Amino acid sequence: MEIQSTGRAVLIGSLLLISSLHAQVDRPVVSGPAIDRHAEVLETANFRFHAKVPFDRVEGLAEECETWRRHVIDRLTLGTRVEEWRPKCEVYLFERPLEFARQSGLPQEALAAAQLEIGDGQVWQRRINARADDSSLVTRLLRHEIVHVVLADRFPRRRIPGWADEGLAVLFESPERLKNLKDIHRTHSSLLEQPRFIRSLSGNPLPTRTRLEADVYYARAAMLTRYLIRRDTPERFLCFLEHVQAQGIESALRCHYGLDRVPSLEELSESAESLAWSVAETEPAFKP
Ligand SMILES: [Zn+2]
Repeated sequence: MEIQSTGRAVLIGSLLLISSLHAQVDRPVVSGPAIDRHAEVLETANFRFHAKVPFDRVEGLAEECETWRRHVIDRLTLGTRVEEWRPKCEVYLFERPLEFARQSGLPQEALAAAQLEIGDGQVWQRRINARADDSSLVTRLLRHEIVHVVLADRFPRRRIPGWADEGLAVLFESPERLKNLKDIHRTHSSLLEQPRFIRSLSGNPLPTRTRLEADVYYARAAMLTRYLIRRDTPERFLCFLEHVQAQGIESALRCHYGLDRVPSLEELSESAESLAWSVAETEPAFKP
């Protein structure tokens, strides 16, 4: 979602859902809620954690987030484009869904979201809200959202096309999660007709109503992202996205990849079956 405001844009990177019914994937938040002054605070070089969860847990997570941030920057070959984060990325961790919803302004069904304010070539605000009631889940959530925050440094004037924002964040998830998404897509691809998906490619992420529908969308976005990155380099893909922002998907596909149309569902599915999806591990396509 993107809302123009005094030359800047407020946007939400993504939500990950746990509810299978009546949940929505994206919802605009114009401004962040008041900071809870009672939460404990821990700072690292690029993050400021606010959490009411046990502090030793936060210390481990903070270290992991710094490492992951560097990993994402390296894999996307953004070394010269991303400096130390100023302002730092504020990370709010909540132990209870109700508190998460109340303080983040997001639905209880959501698990995490990146909230960024961009404009005039700068990132003015970086913030991640995440539920931390499931310690095994919170790492996954933070890793996904950090990809969105890193990408904002590369696209500080206008939001990166939503499908690519999600596609890249998904590709950085664990091999297990990617296998699960691939299986879901194989079984339920009819939930997202390709013409509807194609129409969404020059704009915001597609609104979805259920977790299943959202997962099919995430999977399709990751499939297209992977398909294109395999044809060249991550750097080329990011340049292609700038072209999409300016002139739309068809012009960008022709110019950067010599394609005269968006690949069909069959082509994407066939490609997905033969490719390793994860970019979290070493993969030739993501090397500089
Ligand atoms: Zn996301």
